[in-house]
Amino acid sequence: MARCIDCPCGHILTADDDEALFQLARQHLREHHPDMKRTDGELRARLAADARDE
Ligand SMILES: [Zn+2]
Repeated sequence: MARCIDCPCGHILTADDDEALFQLARQHLREHHPDMKRTDGELRARLAADARDE
């Protein structure tokens, strides 16, 4: 089983667990959305609300 979340840009981020997904999302935002300013807390809240099992 994996955890995944859709980025508004159309990317689907997939990782083994919530922590890995958080790291992946951090990296994705840094590389692809440098002007989307999200704190770690905001990002974790978004993942907690919207991440799904796959
Ligand atoms: Zn994206």
